[in-house]
Amino acid sequence: MSDLRFRVVETAFKKRPVEVTPPAERPSEYFAKYVFNRDKMFRYLPGKVFAKLTDVIDNGAPLDRSIADEVAAGMKKWAIEMGATHYTHWFHPLTEGTAEKHDAFIEHDGKGGVMEEFTGKLLVQQEPDASSFPNGGIRNTFEARGYSAWDPSSPAFIVDDTLCIPTIFIAYTGESLDYKAPLLKALRAVDKAATDVCRYFNPEVKKVYAYLGWEQEYFLVDEGLYAARPDLLMTGRTLTGHDSAKNQQLEDHYFGAIPPRVAAFMKDLEIEALKLGIPVKTRHNEVAPNQFELAPVFEECNLAVDHNMLIMSLMRKIARNHGFRVLLHEKPFKGVNGSGKHNNWSLGTDTGILLHAPGKTPEDNLRFITFVVNTLMAVYRHNGLLKASISSATNAHRLGANEAPPAIISSFLGKQLSQVLEHIEASDKDELINLGGKQGMKLDIPQIPELLIDNTDRNRTSPFAFTGNRFEFRAVGSEANCASAMIALNTALAEQLTDFKHDVDELTEKGEPQFSAILEVVRRYIKKCKPIHFDGNGYSDEWKEEAARRGLDCETSVPVIFDNYLKEDSIRMFESTGVMNRKELEARNEVKWEMYTKKIQIEARVLGDLAMNHIIPVATQYQTGLIDNVYKIHQLFPADKADKLSAKNLELIEEIADRTAFIKEHVDAMVEARKVANKIENQREKAVAYHDTIVPAMEEIRYHIDKLELIVDNQMWTLPKYRELLFIR
Ligand code: ADP
Ligand code: MG
Repeated sequence: MSDLRFRVVETAFKKRPVEVTPPAERPSEYFAKYVFNRDKMFRYLPGKVFAKLTDVIDNGAPLDRSIADEVAAGMKKWAIEMGATHYTHWFHPLTEGTAEKHDAFIEHDGKGGVMEEFTGKLLVQQEPDASSFPNGGIRNTFEARGYSAWDPSSPAFIVDDTLCIPTIFIAYTGESLDYKAPLLKALRAVDKAATDVCRYFNPEVKKVYAYLGWEQEYFLVDEGLYAARPDLLMTGRTLTGHDSAKNQQLEDHYFGAIPPRVAAFMKDLEIEALKLGIPVKTRHNEVAPNQFELAPVFEECNLAVDHNMLIMSLMRKIARNHGFRVLLHEKPFKGVNGSGKHNNWSLGTDTGILLHAPGKTPEDNLRFITFVVNTLMAVYRHNGLLKASISSATNAHRLGANEAPPAIISSFLGKQLSQVLEHIEASDKDELINLGGKQGMKLDIPQIPELLIDNTDRNRTSPFAFTGNRFEFRAVGSEANCASAMIALNTALAEQLTDFKHDVDELTEKGEPQFSAILEVVRRYIKKCKPIHFDGNGYSDEWKEEAARRGLDCETSVPVIFDNYLKEDSIRMFESTGVMNRKELEARNEVKWEMYTKKIQIEARVLGDLAMNHIIPVATQYQTGLIDNVYKIHQLFPADKADKLSAKNLELIEEIADRTAFIKEHVDAMVEARKVANKIENQREKAVAYHDTIVPAMEEIRYHIDKLELIVDNQMWTLPKYRELLFIR
């Protein structure tokens, strides 16, 4: 019966690393080989067009459509030289992953033949027939038009034979239908607000960038074993499976030697990533067996988001060349560490990172403190929304579980920075004003000592930790599009910095010197946002109680967490910054609830199938063997003795009967519960019903399946076990 399992295990064991031949050149030579970057623009575009395009990219100048034809011609020439035959508008719909529809470059040449063609019109805008992308009701099918529009700030690239043009995706009526459009708006909003604040310190500042450095965690599983697990295949996670006797207790995997087959995969992946201009830098084993991490050097946020989407699809592809499947799900294995995607975030100007403690001049220090404190304020005001931005049906398994950030957003600052903030808070206002009066702009601010903030001080339990020159938003899920978190965070900052400027200007208008006004507002904020600051153990139960007392959002039900997007504070934030309007937010929430329901629905169906087609038949078959044994023992031995000898087996027979009966009853009940939930029309209520009734039912069923796995004959068990999935590579 379990031949398949043994065969795949055996084959997986025997697999050897695939030979990877690195290119003859050095990485610096093949880096961005497949990217239409500045170097290629310079070579393939007329000088004037190059200058205009770089102005668009660097300074956000409006795109002059008249240059589009020439850009398209240059791009086409380069792409065809590189062997491309097709082009596509590449966008991030509200489902997972990216979407693309490939068109060949060919057009009729009017002489009975064809020629390669790619015009500015095709580059700038297209109308993909995308009526089946989720849109939350914004596009009824009769007006099912959506446009994809070129994003020149993220360079085009070639994958296989296709020129991919990063685009936004919007409705005919202008609403965003993707992640990129609101992200670009959020980045623009934070640029504007942060530039205004930067000018207090340096009037020359023209632009503020948001940076993102993601760390992608993932699991690798041998593809044979993967194929023998219908749950992995259909849902990306194991819906059943008992802990293996050994998993991560010995902590022998983290930073351990990378297994050769995995190393070959990583090498191959890195080569391809570098060719696509993704500056991958770090690779290591993660905490759980078969779990790994990949991180590039940080980049401008929009580009970093695109690169993350690109690398996730690259990982899936390259893993298969090595006989692996990559699992990006946040929690593929129960009881084993989940996967996240730490989003290292900061703001910077062309002169440096704003969250970097310079420790030289008081002005620089005050600027640093200003940005730190405003970040804390933004996170405090919108902690529920930030949680919503990283919440999903899949990430729910990770948040709140014991080895991951809790489902409460708080911020870790470390000892040094905490002391600095305490010091400022305690400082005397009058003293400051006097000093300001005496020394004007050259004010020496004794309240801000020389700063030497380093990131040696680590707290792995914090979902939003300051780590030296950046904040690390750790609650983001491994499978997520980083844009969701980055939209919320950057918009929150944009709003907060605007408010800050307003508060400071109010004081200076009353005659307060600028620096003491800043310090005064900063001090006020430090007091106000205290509840978000938490340096203790975020995994402890005491913290949950404490966080509730502090008024932080402690909701754990994902469909309810999504409500945060529609709170008045959130709508005001998104509308005042021009990032999204109420209608867009409402539509996107519809999509979120619907996706949530669908994910759980699929899992519940798969679990039901596994229970009925794998677990109960195998357990019953084993039980029949036990019953047979009991009968035969009674034929062989006198009754007393036979009773004694078969006592253990009788216990097992009963246990199997009880557990299979429980499983069957609960699978039936779960089907009924789904029927009830499916009748609910309102997407939110339906998602809530799925959360409240189906998710717990799945847990209960799983519990009994996992117990059966421990007692049923190993030879009969059809599904590869955790010890096989996690330790074979
Ligand atoms: P750790 O394991 O210490 O968290 P890693 O080296 O794995 O760190 O990843 C850190 C990530 O943070 C990298 O992508 C790195 O480029 C990025 N990073 C470093 N400084 C900044 C910054 N100022 N802003 C954004 N990202 C940053
Ligand atoms: Mg990290």
